[in-house]
Amino acid sequence: MKIAPISNELFERAQHSIPGGVNSPVRAFRAVGGNPRFMVSAKGPYMFDEDGNQYIEFINSWGPMILGHAPEMVQQAVQEAIPNSLSFGAPTRKEIEIAELIISMVPSVEKVRMVNSGTEATMSAIRVARGYTGRSKIIKFEGCYHGHGDSFLIAAGSGAITLGVPDSPGVTKGVALDTLTAPYNNLEAVKALLNANPGEVAAIILEPVAGNMGLVLPKPEFLQGLRQLCDQDGIVLIFDEVMTGFRLAPGGAQELYGVTPDMTTLGKIIGGGMPVGAYGGKKEIMDYVAPAGPVYQAGTLSGNPIAMSAGMAMLQHLHSNPSIYNQLESTTTTIVEGMKENMQKLGLNYSINQVGSMFSIFFTEQPVTDFESAKTSDTALFGRYFNAMLQRGIYLAPSQYEALFVSTAITDELVSKYLQANFEALQEAQQ
Ligand code: PLP
Repeated sequence: MKIAPISNELFERAQHSIPGGVNSPVRAFRAVGGNPRFMVSAKGPYMFDEDGNQYIEFINSWGPMILGHAPEMVQQAVQEAIPNSLSFGAPTRKEIEIAELIISMVPSVEKVRMVNSGTEATMSAIRVARGYTGRSKIIKFEGCYHGHGDSFLIAAGSGAITLGVPDSPGVTKGVALDTLTAPYNNLEAVKALLNANPGEVAAIILEPVAGNMGLVLPKPEFLQGLRQLCDQDGIVLIFDEVMTGFRLAPGGAQELYGVTPDMTTLGKIIGGGMPVGAYGGKKEIMDYVAPAGPVYQAGTLSGNPIAMSAGMAMLQHLHSNPSIYNQLESTTTTIVEGMKENMQKLGLNYSINQVGSMFSIFFTEQPVTDFESAKTSDTALFGRYFNAMLQRGIYLAPSQYEALFVSTAITDELVSKYLQANFEALQEAQQ
């Protein structure tokens, strides 16, 4: 049984100086009940909190730690870079090397610009798509998250499909009107939006595998269908691979599914744990970015030498060890199959989605293919399950609507521990 009096005390203190006590909302445990654990260190598959509790990691910093925490080669690269400078604000060789490596790995990327987060990457990508096409509107999908840029904080609902409605105070109606939304996996809805807004749509942006409503896979014809619609109407197809990039394959979901977008946004793994994002795509589009072209986008710390060193070490490792992806998929499949067996023993039948090293259990019996079906999940039950797992030393994302990430540090022994905890937690959560 994990108790956490120091974390509880820190959370109480944090709320006086930090909104909600956390620097990113999902870190709070509001959706599941209880208080967040305050971490002090992490290594391999484990994180350790202020109270000395050890947790087996299935969030991995929300994706970046695909090799587990603090991999030697990334730490060493950072240590070697530190004495040279923490930031130059001038170009470096390393920026070219990482750009060349990304271009060699990600099929759609012919030129790439480094930024500091996934949010910056998506905000910049749609600005470039608008500048390139001379059009204003974008289409996004219900339940997809593209960071906290105003244009993306738009909820869909019956009325919102043709008329964007802001999801967060502070997003203006004007901005919302330029964001059209469609249900994930629904090509007909996209066609209807395009018919209703002829010649006005600059970009269609999506997570090619959605990880922000829990894990939702694209239907076989979905990505290809979007590709065709974009080709027909001169629309920029943007894959937001902040989560899936370098995770599902060296070239991300676009490599896995064989569909090449016009632009790609990247984040998480690309920085090896440092704050990094990137956007890239076809040369003719990327040459619209300043100073090559007229679309302005800049960053004081973009291409930061420490972050580039960490990212480079991570990407080089993945690039030269592609068998990692088979290992990750095989570990994750063992986990998912084990969870299904556990459920069978307990007479339960919840929905599980998996691709590669990402998976989600949804506390609903219906297949989850979009946000509407994801929302049929019993979130109170998820909260009980989450806390029962936490008590058994398994650290999951504190929300039903998140994907879990498996790292290469998860051994067979840890899979067994996870599955034992999963069996007990499923049982406990029913009561
Ligand atoms: N896009 C996707 C698909 C994401 O999952 C996220 C973050 O989780 C973002 C964009 C935003 O990235 P960041 O949190 O680095 O701003």
